[in-house]
Amino acid sequence: MTVHRKNLIDGEWLGEAGSRNINPSNTNDVVGEYASAGPEEATQAIAAAKAAFPAWSRSGPLARHAVLKKTSDEIMARKDEIGRSLAREEGKTLAEGVGETIRAAQLFDFFAGETLRLSGEMVPSVRPGVGVEMTREGVGVVGIITPWNFPIAIPAWKIAPALAYGNTIVFKPAELVPESAWTIVDILHRAGLPKGVLNLVMGKGSVVGQAMLDSPDVNAISFTGSVGTGKRVAAASVEHMRKFQLEMGGKNPLVVLDDADIAVAVDCAVNGAYFSTGQRCTASSRLIVTDAIHDRFVDAMKERLDTLVIGDALDAKTQIGPVVDQTQLKQDEDYIAIGRQEGAELAFGGERLERETPGFYLRPALFLGSTNAMRISREEIFGPVANVIRVKDYDEALTVANDTPFGLTSGICTTSLKHATHFKRNSEAGMVMVNLPTAGVDFHVPFGGRKGSSYGSREQGRYAMEFYTTVKTAYTLAG
Ligand code: ADP
Repeated sequence: MTVHRKNLIDGEWLGEAGSRNINPSNTNDVVGEYASAGPEEATQAIAAAKAAFPAWSRSGPLARHAVLKKTSDEIMARKDEIGRSLAREEGKTLAEGVGETIRAAQLFDFFAGETLRLSGEMVPSVRPGVGVEMTREGVGVVGIITPWNFPIAIPAWKIAPALAYGNTIVFKPAELVPESAWTIVDILHRAGLPKGVLNLVMGKGSVVGQAMLDSPDVNAISFTGSVGTGKRVAAASVEHMRKFQLEMGGKNPLVVLDDADIAVAVDCAVNGAYFSTGQRCTASSRLIVTDAIHDRFVDAMKERLDTLVIGDALDAKTQIGPVVDQTQLKQDEDYIAIGRQEGAELAFGGERLERETPGFYLRPALFLGSTNAMRISREEIFGPVANVIRVKDYDEALTVANDTPFGLTSGICTTSLKHATHFKRNSEAGMVMVNLPTAGVDFHVPFGGRKGSSYGSREQGRYAMEFYTTVKTAYTLAG
């Protein structure tokens, strides 16, 4: 069945659904047709969000709680259907699609709770007889621009706090995953959001996204995507003196020390590097392995990789789905060629696979004998490709782990408390994992990185408040 979806602007579903999306597991399967907004629709959506802000920002906790809770409940009740639709549209496995949908429900539930926990502070002034109040207010119109790799969780972790703290929204999802975006907006709309509070503008980044960047009426932008677009968001936001928050790439290291439990290390590496087809900004793309465990680790990795089932995302047996589209597949294959030219040894995979249906199937690739100076060690590939960098000891491993322009996540597999503790303290990443995959985080604690990975305050958990509110300090003469 092909669905036809429109944009939501000022409470109305508008626009002709014309742009086709296909299933990466089966390119003969059309997922749906979607409206593609132009600059005028982006401007209308921004104006609607601006007009809706005064009332929504003063709506009080109960109104916001009701919408967010209802949304959470519906997403949870429909998790299998929405998760399946997500897997069909993006290519991650059914289990990953359902898991991500549950995560979205949890995020809406968490921020529903936050509406009831909003508080301020009151202190005596240094001037006798004067009281000082510190309160938080919504920022205004928030532009939300999201990527394709977490089609429902990333929109949820931006939309839920934006609404909870009284902002209105213009939401521009990635072109490849409009169905998940439409679904979440449809649920929120039916849950009772007043018109204009949440606007959906599907369309091209260079058109709709750019119109948002260029508008003086967008008061804040939360962006997740590539470094290149992130820089555009930053430059345009400085021009308009608006708040912005960026989550971009990663080149996350997983350190495996001689004393690691080999089964734990292989689990962490396979999950971190290849699950979700390696299309996670938190993926472990650099496996930094010390001398004495190197050969055992590599043998165990190859053995495990050989057992992975790569196939149609909607087949329950599949462990690794297809790459999201032809462009990303080409990028992955180009990097595999670059790795070979640079002198790394392709020890496993890297070739295209035929399945029953035409899709973008790629066997997970593992490089050995790579150095940290190679392009495959420095640039984000965003596919099922990882490389092993052999080092002599922990000190060298830490140096290599930190020698990167990025700093989102990092991980270490070790049974040494001393090294685990030292790594947690000295890793230059926003999130550090000990004996856990570098990907896979909780929804109630801060998410974000350092260096070229992130800019601005953290997302998720109570830390999200920092971005989605602005502080007011009010002085009153008590008389
Ligand atoms: P990815 O490599 O994940 O596709 P992009 O940065 O290209 O990363 O895309 C992330 C989001 O940014 C998408 O929603 C995309 O449409 C949007 N985008 C792309 N170009 C622009 C732009 N010039 N202005 C605003 N948003 C853009």
